[in-house]
Amino acid sequence: MNIDEIFDFTSFTIDREPHIVLDDKVCAGCDVRGCTNCCPARCYTWSEAEQKMTFVYDGCLECGSCYVVCQRNAFTRWRYPRGGFGVSFRMT
Ligand code: SF4
Ligand code: SF4
Repeated sequence: MNIDEIFDFTSFTIDREPHIVLDDKVCAGCDVRGCTNCCPARCYTWSEAEQKMTFVYDGCLECGSCYVVCQRNAFTRWRYPRGGFGVSFRMT
């Protein structure tokens, strides 16, 4: 099953309170930006023209990759969603 197929079996209950909060000033000084490559949900988008990182938490699959990959500790908050929120996977 590839990542696009996984989304066919996935639903989200979006919390108003983001479970991941990014300090985009830190990202502006990052020359690696591994998050843009490792995030399977494509939550991170770097704009070369604006020199700005955009992050959306709504479609986060809660894999933890961005937390591991980021070497600059750019997160002012990184936790899993509160109970009852976030992603749900249906495998049948
Ligand atoms: S790797 Fe970390 S510091 Fe670099 S762009 Fe991604 S979140 Fe920002
Ligand atoms: S936890 Fe995984 S899916 Fe969520 S933002 Fe980080 S890399 Fe993307």
